Amino acid sequence: MTNYYDDWKEQPQTCRACGWQSRGCDLTQGEVFAELFEVCCPKCGEKVLTVSFPTIDESRRNWDKVSPADRIVVELAERRRQEFERRMLRSPEQLPDLPGNDLVLVWDYEDRNGHETVIRFGAQELWREPAFFEGCERFGEIAEILFAKYGTRLQDLVPTRGSQLFLYGDRIGAPARIEKFRQRLGQRRRTP
Ligand SMILES: [Zn+2]
Repeated sequence: MTNYYDDWKEQPQTCRACGWQSRGCDLTQGEVFAELFEVCCPKCGEKVLTVSFPTIDESRRNWDKVSPADRIVVELAERRRQEFERRMLRSPEQLPDLPGNDLVLVWDYEDRNGHETVIRFGAQELWREPAFFEGCERFGEIAEILFAKYGTRLQDLVPTRGSQLFLYGDRIGAPARIEKFRQRLGQRRRTP
């Protein structure tokens, strides 16, 4: 795996399939995934390198190599991460007490001044924090904190239809993962 800011664009590259040789910047972009992309031989299409997208920290360390347009993206992502860290649900103590033994909570999504995840119990808003695109893992984390607060009284955490597009994104496995988090809550109820 090649790091985005390594100087692969200036280095000589060789295609293993057809023997094409040139600099990395002459390669063509292949498939793009969430965390990496492939660059391919312009002659035969064979994959030559797998390059990882930079994290915010890597971009900061290589700031002189970051284009003006990418700097705006990095700064936005940074602000968003700071806001998330300021407002994220961290512990069960931050949640209100609820009555009843069959708590069905709702995972909702709102786009007001940015994307927000809202956890509701009926009309009551229990928590609100910035939402992440494809925030599957966050769903699992919040389900754990809710379980720590409400225990086996927590029956389910149901994503609204409106939240699913943002929660699942393009990840094919996302609905199954969310389903697994929910099943785990249900299993704990049955086996105290
Ligand atoms: Zn080739």
